[in-house]
Amino acid sequence: MNIKKIYMDSNALLEGHFLLSSGNHSNYYLQSAKVLENPKLAEMLAKELAKQILDYALKVDCVCSPAIGGILAGYELARALGVRFIFTERVNGVMNLRRGFSINKNENILICEDIVTTGGSAVESAECVKNLGANIVAFAALANRGFCKRVNSKLEQKIECKIPNNIPFFALEDFLFEMYNPNKCPMCSNGSTAIKPGSRGN
Ligand code: ZN
Repeated sequence: MNIKKIYMDSNALLEGHFLLSSGNHSNYYLQSAKVLENPKLAEMLAKELAKQILDYALKVDCVCSPAIGGILAGYELARALGVRFIFTERVNGVMNLRRGFSINKNENILICEDIVTTGGSAVESAECVKNLGANIVAFAALANRGFCKRVNSKLEQKIECKIPNNIPFFALEDFLFEMYNPNKCPMCSNGSTAIKPGSRGN
């Protein structure tokens, strides 16, 4: 399965000159919501991710995602694994389990995101359910930005990764982009102007 082509064809992977929320510039922009707006594609990608997890012979009772970004990917993954799905959400900046969701003691939970950059939100979500008695068995994402080491990839973990390296992390693909300080951006040097993704209907 050519994940990058699927993302490109869905306009979920854009090539150009972008201003990221971090303030840096990049030649690519990744927006998983664009691939997940097609339920058939979402189902196909989640099944592919589920295959890796099942091959690893992990016992998963429940998938949990940090809202909002992880919800669609996590829900489809839970469907593919045949387990229940819950999500955590931030209340005044702190990750919480709301909406009547509860955790069974020692329930084996997999945390799922759409994209993992450093894994910050995924880890906050994991801490939240762990404090309620869950056992975190794995992390997963459709796309890995290349800071964290995933199962089945030779890519090394970078210092920025927040996912603990004693817990397996599954993803479909590594998406490595160049990121530039605006003062050192070669595209800016060539006279082009960085565009904020979304500002032109992206
Ligand atoms: Zn630039």
